Amino acid sequence: MAQSIALDGPAGAGKSTIAKRLAALLGLKYVDTGAMYRTLGLACTRRGVDATKEEEVIPVLQTADIRVGYVGDTQHVYLDGEDVSTLIRTDEAGAMSSKVSVHPPVREKMVDMQRKLADEISVIMDGRDIGTVVLPNAFLKVFLTASVEERARRRRQDYLLQGKNKTQEEVEEEIRERDYRDSHREVGPLKQAEDAIRVDTTGLSIEQVVDTIRELYENRQKEAANA
Ligand code: C5P
Repeated sequence: MAQSIALDGPAGAGKSTIAKRLAALLGLKYVDTGAMYRTLGLACTRRGVDATKEEEVIPVLQTADIRVGYVGDTQHVYLDGEDVSTLIRTDEAGAMSSKVSVHPPVREKMVDMQRKLADEISVIMDGRDIGTVVLPNAFLKVFLTASVEERARRRRQDYLLQGKNKTQEEVEEEIRERDYRDSHREVGPLKQAEDAIRVDTTGLSIEQVVDTIRELYENRQKEAANA
């Protein structure tokens, strides 16, 4: 039986860092679903379409060749055969992905691809709707959060590494906007699943968060073994 982890939460909660560490520790495949929406966002930017208009996004969805592959344990995403894993990491691509991800046909196709990736092996999948929609029967569901201020502080550090200097207020505003859009869309909104365990990472180190979730996972395994 697959023993997958669904890891959801808002932008900047630390999902991908935590998921990568846990994947290595627990022997799971890491699936970053945001990268898939970002790749579609990039395709829309390249074709000059307005990502807020579903009728403009659909033709891109139908014709862009978006694939997920692995180089060793690292997930890569490909757009029409080109490895765009680095290109999709900008804040522009993040904002674009949040716009395309609102459209129901986009979500339908992405959810389908994501379920296939988790079909035969145990994964740790991070996103917004993994516990609620993509893997409703996940072995363990975790909802990772942190205060807006803390998430903005972390994002600012990432930006500084990319050579961008934004104020704390600017980044907080960006995060609030994205949270709002992600939580208020009609299909697959960011929402904690009823059976998910909430982990607030404000003030915690990466190691503390990884340890907490590893313990939750191992306890679930013990429960499952005794059931
Ligand atoms: O996690 P990441 O910041 O890379 O996600 C980019 C955007 O993709 C999010 O803001 C969200 O709008 C969208 N997304 C989604 N559902 C997921 C993963 C990401 O709608 N499962």
